[in-house]
Amino acid sequence: MSVMPVIFLGHGSPMVAIEQNDITKTWERIGRNIPKPKAILAISAHWFGNSNRVQSAEKPNQIFDMYGFPQALYEVRYEPKGDKTLSERVQTLLKDDIQIDDSWGIDHGTWSVLVHMFPNADIPVVQLAINMGAPRTTLLDIGRKLKPLRDEGCLVLGSGNIVHNLRRVEWNRTDGTEAANRFDDWVEERIRARDFTALADYQSHPDGSYAVPTTDHYIPLLYVLGMVDSEDRIDVVNRVRQMGSLSMTGYVFSR
Ligand code: ZN
Repeated sequence: MSVMPVIFLGHGSPMVAIEQNDITKTWERIGRNIPKPKAILAISAHWFGNSNRVQSAEKPNQIFDMYGFPQALYEVRYEPKGDKTLSERVQTLLKDDIQIDDSWGIDHGTWSVLVHMFPNADIPVVQLAINMGAPRTTLLDIGRKLKPLRDEGCLVLGSGNIVHNLRRVEWNRTDGTEAANRFDDWVEERIRARDFTALADYQSHPDGSYAVPTTDHYIPLLYVLGMVDSEDRIDVVNRVRQMGSLSMTGYVFSR
């Protein structure tokens, strides 16, 4: 069995679920070009807490965790099965420092991307909550512990945004601010240097508090980076900054 890639994607506005543009076309292309996963472990910015939690439901609920959008967005159906075997495998790999939690479901951070990548929803999906309470370097360690999943046909998908500052959004702007560009470029440069520890310490970057005012959209990247192997090729996708303070940049790490 081939080693599965590990992927981080920038999802931006939930509206991307019902759009067709260069960003969604890139996601479609990724879905077509990688080996078909047996299951997907999704790490979304929108499910967070202060501990490690994983879903185990056979039929996870689709969660419409966004407000005030057009009705068409609430009519999107993306209802994959869960995968108990994957849930149990994640618990084993994390040495049981993790609880089962089925109070959430498949949220828009996950389905707004997967609806383009795997439109048939025929691949089981399990979400892993992001742990906001853990030290950032611990998130790289969690990724490292989950790395065997790549050899077992499982796709790990982190979904967030590297630059995500909603309070500083400039709605009419189609590009990024200088600070957004600088931070996004710095992340790419550190990724290419495979200096992931620096990325766990993003707060020491001069633009860190602008780009990452809250950690939720950034830290799915750290889980993904923990799973990267020295032999992986690094593909940057959707290097796009929008509305001043958002970046859509994503990374595909594959053999
Ligand atoms: Zn989001």
